[in-house]
Amino acid sequence: MNQRLIQLLIAILLLCSVHRSSAADACPVCGGKLTTVGTVTDDRTKPSKNISVWNRSICANMFYDDASVICTQCWLSYSKQFQRWERSSELPDSFRRPLSAGIRGFPVPPAKNIKSLVVYSQQIAGAKVSESVAFWCTDSDSLISDFRAYARKHNLSIRVEMQGRVRKQIYVAIETKPSA
Ligand SMILES: [Zn+2]
Repeated sequence: MNQRLIQLLIAILLLCSVHRSSAADACPVCGGKLTTVGTVTDDRTKPSKNISVWNRSICANMFYDDASVICTQCWLSYSKQFQRWERSSELPDSFRRPLSAGIRGFPVPPAKNIKSLVVYSQQIAGAKVSESVAFWCTDSDSLISDFRAYARKHNLSIRVEMQGRVRKQIYVAIETKPSA
């Protein structure tokens, strides 16, 4: 092999490694180090780092597996299926990119009315950020009307679903509107 060919090969190798590190090793949102879900342990004595990834229910998680990419700093994980970064948590103040005031400040009903974990979510696809707070609660007209008033005041969308599976309970999701 002549000298020039060796130099060329070294240059190609260097280019590849630079390209790989910038594309795969840093979180596009916070710059943190990326790893794969399989290398992270879910500490069940603490709130889940990302409920989208570790939902701890008996339902299989169809969207994330051990090979999914996750940030070790902000715990956003990349969904290939939806082509976006996503994190969910029961802790509204635990998001490295703070949730918008309307979602973070949503007045959660009293514990006696809440029938599930209250889950805050953030999804990031390029410049597009969507957020939500969702939970199951008792089916109550006065609660629903409070939720609707809050959503109107803060320019948020609201979904109320009565799925019939669980009597007298409703699923409520308060979501940011898509920014056109
Ligand atoms: Zn990150």
